[in-house]
Amino acid sequence: MEKDGPEDVAELRRKLNVLEQDVQHLVSHDQLTGLMIRSAFLRRLDREFLADAERTHQAAIMEIGVRGIPRISGALGRHAGDYVISALAARLAAHVTDGAVLCRLDYWSFAVFVPQVTDALEALTFAKRLITLLTEPIDWVDRTLSIEAAAGVALVEKRDTDATVLLDRAGLALKSAAQRGGPGYSFFNPALEQAAKRRQDVQASLQDALDNHYFSLNFQPYFLAESGELAGFEALMRLKHPVLGQVSPVEFIPAAEDSGFINRLGAWALAEACRVASTWPSNLVVSVNSSPQQFLGGSLLTDIHNALELYSFPAYRLEIEITESAMLEDSEAIISQLSALRELGCQIVLDDFGTGYSSLSYLWKFPFSKLKIDKSFVHAMESKPQVRGMMKSIVDLARNLGLKVTAEGIETTAQAEMLRANKCDYIQGYLSGRPVPEQDVAAIILTRFASALKDLNLEIADSTKAVSQRFEF
Ligand code: C2E
Ligand code: CA
Ligand code: CA
Repeated sequence: MEKDGPEDVAELRRKLNVLEQDVQHLVSHDQLTGLMIRSAFLRRLDREFLADAERTHQAAIMEIGVRGIPRISGALGRHAGDYVISALAARLAAHVTDGAVLCRLDYWSFAVFVPQVTDALEALTFAKRLITLLTEPIDWVDRTLSIEAAAGVALVEKRDTDATVLLDRAGLALKSAAQRGGPGYSFFNPALEQAAKRRQDVQASLQDALDNHYFSLNFQPYFLAESGELAGFEALMRLKHPVLGQVSPVEFIPAAEDSGFINRLGAWALAEACRVASTWPSNLVVSVNSSPQQFLGGSLLTDIHNALELYSFPAYRLEIEITESAMLEDSEAIISQLSALRELGCQIVLDDFGTGYSSLSYLWKFPFSKLKIDKSFVHAMESKPQVRGMMKSIVDLARNLGLKVTAEGIETTAQAEMLRANKCDYIQGYLSGRPVPEQDVAAIILTRFASALKDLNLEIADSTKAVSQRFEF
């Protein structure tokens, strides 16, 4: 028979408390690593630390990002990636003691709150130690795996009261450390917050800018290196905003990529480039830049089809420029789209070669028609003989693979001469022509046509002279 006395109520309460604690733990901790999740971490910081107005110590918050997990998961399976994350979490948990709070923020990042640091140097030393710890090799079955790690550090002053703001600061610092590449760490500074604010403003303005025609394309000519003949134009996006002013693509393209807006913006650029180029002589090609996102889950192929059809523009006159970063993610999906583009008749250019990873294996793995050597490489060539040697080897290799080579960013005649000597096929840069608005393209085409005609007349005159001399007219 069941009892209903006061002891039983107390026992029931106790059990309920335990159960509630279990449930709380379950919902506030990550299943894989057992670490606290973001929301629980922020709540705890707010409640237990920042709410204390009497606190006297300076503290630090850090976000630690690891790189290399997608590569490991891609090669060895998701369980290998999960194993690495658990191993890293265990290392952190073993190291982070003395009241510090640890959390798993998302798949590739952790956060650590250190409640007491004497100064910035101590916080940095702590972050450095964590990076060293995380980048030690990890044994997996019969392999040794390695990852890269970076940390963003923000100091927590007495006046700081909002954990979300503090974590955002550590996140911004991490982004700046990651942008520099490789393992490293970076400190938060207010300029990062201002830059993030500007980025948010740019991001928020994109749709409105597209609707109101604030975007336009500029066109930069490129030429056959040997003859100087005009071969085509690269379409480069511009944004002139009534409030934000002239915004560089270096600023708005990443903002559009982050928000996913790049798909719509990229579709617009393709259509606009085909519209403008359909008015040019039929020997001229237009090159349009693409972002990795347009390949990964975007609608690039449909957008290209639509753009070509809308302006009855032949596919062979459209070149799509793609950077290496697109190829790192899911190469099978990229290869099939690139192959479909080649079948359609479009040319594909590997852009910015010589920056990033520059793996030569891309050259035969992907169906490119052209390789575009980055301007940093072209500029280094003048002062560094070994770069000149490398340039020659790359051109030779591309030639053997049946690829054409463009060198971009040519600013001096010395650079142009070196590239011609190295047998580059095309040259592009401020020396031969800056990017210009649509209405100025016609002038470039006409000037080139006139000079070609002059050359032709001279040749005709020369050959007439030669013939008349031979036959002694
Ligand atoms: P990119 O594709 O490498 O384009 C070449 C950049 O170098 C352009 O900068 C161009 O104006 C600049 N440039 C050309 N010749 C010279 C030179 O002789 N010297 C120097 N120093 N620079 C030269 P821009 O127009 O600011 O574009 C920057 C980047 O923005 C582009 O780099 C490209 O990655 C991106 N971008 C531009 N338009 C688009 C677009 O429609 N879609 C996408 N996804 N990205 C775009
Ligand atoms: Ca380009
Ligand atoms: Ca480029």
